[in-house]
Amino acid sequence: MKLGVLALQGDVREHISALNECGAEAFPVRTAEEISTLDGLILPGGESTTIAKLARSFGLFDLIAGRIKEGLPTYGSCAGMILLANELVDGAVGQETFGGLDVKVRRNAFGRQVDSFETDLPFEGVGTVRAVFIRAPWVETTNPGVQILASVEIEGVSHPVAVRQGNVLATSFHPELTGDNRVHRYFVTELLRGVSTHS
Ligand code: GLN
Repeated sequence: MKLGVLALQGDVREHISALNECGAEAFPVRTAEEISTLDGLILPGGESTTIAKLARSFGLFDLIAGRIKEGLPTYGSCAGMILLANELVDGAVGQETFGGLDVKVRRNAFGRQVDSFETDLPFEGVGTVRAVFIRAPWVETTNPGVQILASVEIEGVSHPVAVRQGNVLATSFHPELTGDNRVHRYFVTELLRGVSTHS
């Protein structure tokens, strides 16, 4: 079982540590050969426009998009969620996404006042998690087939911040920064079914 974290930009090392702590071996990936042979992929937090541009210029963009569409288990946190969205609101001009998640995602959704914050959130199938938001997106609308796993309420309106659709999982927040690896464990056990973990 080969697990990779896309290592073009962003918090790659933190995701690798979180996966390792769940007993899953993971590697930074940045070549077509590495990506072609993966059994699972993480798109890290960082800057979605930069990651997409680098994927284009290294000739990896269509390969990644294609593998996700074929069913590659994939998890994206924050910028990773943006990259998985089929549609964006407030994206940069011409911003591309790999897609795979049939949702509309609003980039930098929380606005300036609450740019970065932390809160405890109930996460379906995981329990209460400490969610760290850093210039985070949220899910604006979901299409049928998308399961909402966690939401944040802002001014009386509930905004999904963790969603799953089949092989694709996305969170607006960064579980890789908290030292709590239960969301990564959920990815490993629920999306990469059949992988044996050490605990
Ligand atoms: N705002 C960033 C983007 O649009 C995402 C921030 C993050 O990953 N912490 O890519």
